[in-house]
Amino acid sequence: YVTINKLSKCFGEVTVFEDIEFTIEEGEFVTLLGPSGCGKSTLLRTLAGLDKANKGEIWVDGVDITHTQAQHREIGMVFQSYALFPNMTVEDNIAFGLKMKGISKKDAKEDLQKMLALVELGGKEKCHPHELSGGQRQRVALARALIVKPRILLLDEPLSALDAKIRKNLRQQILDIQKELNLTTIFVTHDQEEAMLMSDRIFLMNQGEIVQQGNPEDIYTKPVNEFVASFMGNYN
Ligand code: ATP
Ligand code: MG
Repeated sequence: YVTINKLSKCFGEVTVFEDIEFTIEEGEFVTLLGPSGCGKSTLLRTLAGLDKANKGEIWVDGVDITHTQAQHREIGMVFQSYALFPNMTVEDNIAFGLKMKGISKKDAKEDLQKMLALVELGGKEKCHPHELSGGQRQRVALARALIVKPRILLLDEPLSALDAKIRKNLRQQILDIQKELNLTTIFVTHDQEEAMLMSDRIFLMNQGEIVQQGNPEDIYTKPVNEFVASFMGNYN
């Protein structure tokens, strides 16, 4: 469903990743796991069209979108920091993606209510982000990404700023929504346990390379090299 061919990205002289290749099935939940600075966020931004690839191709559902502009890619993204508009209400934050597509809030009223219910924020639509908890803010960001009915959902460490209990709840909520919508998802984390628990497959990344792809059990029990073994070894 999603296929990446020899994708490369550099900033000036610095190569962030080179010749990355993978295929993701429709409805699959893939976790991109790796240490800080290995290129996870840059890879997601490149897929979303927020950064431009220097080389390679991105195909979605048989269409080459390598040169398609971000707003036409039908890819939803939740960022590492919430990236909500502080002076907009929850409702307006969520509807923002629709505005980009030329759909007014009025026409989207039903969708908006559905989305608020889906992320369990009913009654909070008139609140501003500063009146919400971290978990609620991240659910607003999730709703904003989902309301445009994306074909792919990219989640860049949506849970990392949250405390353990909220993190666990939201983790399950994300999985429930993902399954319900059969949404092809790439989830970024540097938390091995989270990756093991949530994923259909894990892509383990180090220094701009995907060093191993596989289901959680294989990654854990059959590491291809020392790096994978020691990175996953922290999991218990
Ligand atoms: P973390 O887990 O800390 O979020 P990451 O895996 O998401 O890390 P990236 O943010 O993708 O890592 O960064 C990968 C590398 O690319 C880093 O060395 C970073 O300095 C570099 N980089 C990222 N964005 C830019 C930019 N706009 N200009 C120059 N270098 C950049
Ligand atoms: Mg990052």
